[in-house]
Amino acid sequence: MKKILILAGDGIGPEVCAQAVKVINKIGGATLDYADIGGIGYENHGHPYPEETKVKAKQADAILLGAVGGPKWDNIEFALKPERGLLGIRKDLELFANLRPAIVFDELVGASSLKPELVQGLDIMIVRELTGDIYFGEPRGIHTREDGKRVGINTMIYDEDEVKRVSKVAFELAQKRGGKVCSVDKANVLESTLMWREEITKLHASDYQDCELSHMYVDNAAMQIVRAPKQFDVIVTGNIFGDILSDAAAMLTGSLGMLPSASLGNKYSLYEPVHGSAPDIAGQDKANPIATLMSVAMMYRYTFSMAKEADAIEAAIRAVLAEGYRTGDIMQDGCTLVGTEKMGDLITAKV
Ligand code: NAD
Repeated sequence: MKKILILAGDGIGPEVCAQAVKVINKIGGATLDYADIGGIGYENHGHPYPEETKVKAKQADAILLGAVGGPKWDNIEFALKPERGLLGIRKDLELFANLRPAIVFDELVGASSLKPELVQGLDIMIVRELTGDIYFGEPRGIHTREDGKRVGINTMIYDEDEVKRVSKVAFELAQKRGGKVCSVDKANVLESTLMWREEITKLHASDYQDCELSHMYVDNAAMQIVRAPKQFDVIVTGNIFGDILSDAAAMLTGSLGMLPSASLGNKYSLYEPVHGSAPDIAGQDKANPIATLMSVAMMYRYTFSMAKEADAIEAAIRAVLAEGYRTGDIMQDGCTLVGTEKMGDLITAKV
């Protein structure tokens, strides 16, 4: 039996996770446990990443997270804000590789902001390094210099092991997909990323010659993602560039409610939809659960190596979309609008 920990969190988190639970139960072979994270963690335990959640996270084979945050916690101490729970668990479990697929389903081609021919059949995977780079580098802070001027400092830094471990994830994904890795950097200006380029090149030469490796500067990559996104298979990049590029690529698919993600470490793995807690629609049976269900498919594919089950979930989603069912975030003429529960039931029935 697989042990899956559900951290439903806040806002629409519990609603979309409830649909995921239906699919997991339909597949069978897993026991579920639950714990708090985010705002609900603060309410019930005084912390967004409570001790009990930490313990359970380390006992689980995989974790599914809904979403955290909401206006209720806008004015509490920074360290106790719901979003700190998310950063806390990623750091605690050393989840260094963030996988963000951008897939365009044929049925939703019209929902993209790009022309249909540019996105039809799109299937790219962005691998973003998640625990290093300028977001965590020291020194950092805001201080006043000797001349009285205020300065803000952050440090862009990677060591070679950090580059190698995330590059390895990218190559191994490419081996199972189109065999191409594009490493994105700014090696012409930033030494930290020049070292990145050198290390991934060495790793490619020693271990992954079966994949094709190319390099691209981040400014060009931003342009290419909206100019001709289908040229990419796997993109691997650092934390800050990945943060920006993955959101740009996400929008090629048309809706936040469709985007899954995985965060992988050497020992642990966490799956979650890309969207937040959507307080504006929480409790109204309006949230699109597909991002969460696609995250469950990723869990079966990457943590449990159960490709057949992952394929079955994705096929069920495609089939329900092909029948014309939509949730409110993807309004299209001639489609049947359904709520969160009904969408979950329709997909579960087809898994
Ligand atoms: P959001 O993703 O929650 O919502 C943005 C917009 O998209 C809203 O209009 C929302 O209704 C819509 N939306 C999001 N997910 C949807 C879904 N599944 N189906 C249909 N519509 C959906 O982002 P936000 O409004 O900027 O943030 C709200 C809260 O969520 C904040 O507290 C923020 O900090 C938090 N947040 C959490 C995460 C996370 O848990 N991973 C990510 C982003 C934001």
